[in-house]
Amino acid sequence: MLYFAALIEQLIMTSISANLQAVRERIAAAARKYGRRPEDVSLLAVSKTWPAAYIREAVAAGQNAFGENYVQEAVEKLGELAPLQLEWHFIGPLQSNKTRAVAESFAWVHSLDRLKIAERLSAQRPDGLPPLQVCLEVNISGEATKSGVSLTALGELAAQVAALPRLALRGLMAIPAASAECAEQRVAFAQVREAYEQLQNSGLRLDTLSMGMTHDLEAAISEGSTLVRVGTAIFGERRQS
Ligand SMILES: *Cc1c(COP(=O)(O)O)cnc(C)c1O
Repeated sequence: MLYFAALIEQLIMTSISANLQAVRERIAAAARKYGRRPEDVSLLAVSKTWPAAYIREAVAAGQNAFGENYVQEAVEKLGELAPLQLEWHFIGPLQSNKTRAVAESFAWVHSLDRLKIAERLSAQRPDGLPPLQVCLEVNISGEATKSGVSLTALGELAAQVAALPRLALRGLMAIPAASAECAEQRVAFAQVREAYEQLQNSGLRLDTLSMGMTHDLEAAISEGSTLVRVGTAIFGERRQS
């Protein structure tokens, strides 16, 4: 039995490395197809629900940036993996009673959608660390999800967040409603890109469009994504969300 457990472990590890390679190739192929440079699209490996051992394997295969959604789960893994000096991105819904752990342990937050949370993160960001890098999550699916700032409220929130001393506003993040159609996916991503360009034109210096996951990264890259957040295609199907 022990032997089989070790064998299965070995198979999982080998597949993480091969999966990462395949995802990198998908990103590069999409970038070339849409006239962009592959190096202008970075890969965030979404490791939520997966153990630290899987993350170590991705690190061995050259991956350095990881995304987590649940504060408690993340804090445990971050502690365990601290010697590896990885770049951690918080991408899940954030409640005000959890902001301190995020402000103290993460380099990035992608899911910021309220001024109150932004103010807490800025106040709680330790002086010894660089500013917390943040993206505002935009809600482009209307009622489909509760998270994300509406396009109409985006400009005001962006100006307020940009003024906070311990945050660096880098761009926008979005999770459009799932669709199997690339053309449909592109419509939603194009809305985010237009909002991003409007903010740039208003004078904000933004460089990050965080959009695209396992099933829609090509459409996201076609609309200017600079960072795709990929979980399933690297680590496999999750049992929980
Ligand atoms: C889980 C999650 C992902 C990864 O999704 P996959 O479909 O597994 O690639 C990306 N972004 C966010 C915000 C997530 O919660």
